[in-house]
Amino acid sequence: MSTEAPRPDASPDWLPWPVRIVLVRTTHPGNIGAAARAMKTMGLTELVLVAPRDFPHEEATARASGADDVLTAARVCPTLEDALVGCRLVMGTSARLRSVTWPQLEPRAAAAALLESAREGPVALLFGTEKSGLSNEELDRCQVLVNIPANPAYSSLNLGMAVQLLAYELRLAWLGDTRTAVEREVPLARADDLERFYTHLEQVLIHTGFLDPAYPRQLMRRLRRLYARARPDEQELNILRGILSAVDPLGEAARRRRGE
Ligand code: SAH
Repeated sequence: MSTEAPRPDASPDWLPWPVRIVLVRTTHPGNIGAAARAMKTMGLTELVLVAPRDFPHEEATARASGADDVLTAARVCPTLEDALVGCRLVMGTSARLRSVTWPQLEPRAAAAALLESAREGPVALLFGTEKSGLSNEELDRCQVLVNIPANPAYSSLNLGMAVQLLAYELRLAWLGDTRTAVEREVPLARADDLERFYTHLEQVLIHTGFLDPAYPRQLMRRLRRLYARARPDEQELNILRGILSAVDPLGEAARRRRGE
């Protein structure tokens, strides 16, 4: 069972579950302030900034209005990896679709899924940089993509507006959510452990000759998508790591088998 036990008597002022709003490489400090305000109006408090261009900044404080407490408490991380440590579910918002199609949810369903997982531990919702959004490598870190179904001819919302909309959906999901948490024997695998698994998997695929590093195509991306759909728990991930170690021709187990 998770240690983050539900608090059924929590007041409706603040979301009682750990939902991180992660702004990646934000260019305009005003948008950071707007995001903080959007979050506070909806009872969210956990703001994480990955490599913001200008922060702290007076424009961020001005746009936060009365939400400067959320801004002051914001955690600034040098890399996305740092921001995602410990997260059980990572979702990324995007105005456009990927070349490799990815598990995708509309904001309402995404909010419900985030809340459900947040009962077991931290979850993250990522927002990209203003001009280009989340990069492919950043989207690779997400198990699910969230698209606001805007006008296809003009689909890119202002960053602060996108945060507002998702924060609102999270609030609606929370206020309307009377279901009990899913009982899970083993907690879901954490984002950082998943990354170590993907690195291990890639090494073994190279060692076995299945993956040619000179010609990787989209293999790792497609495998990430497969595991993103499966959402392994900690025990399942340990089993997968154990299998990789056992079959790695250059690994410890193979050396032992050869009597080396
Ligand atoms: N051209 C970029 C737009 C970036 S807008 C792109 O294609 O993604 C900055 C951020 O706002 C995005 O990275 C995303 O986090 C959010 N955003 C804007 N419009 C969105 C939409 N229609 N659906 C989901 N997120 C959106």
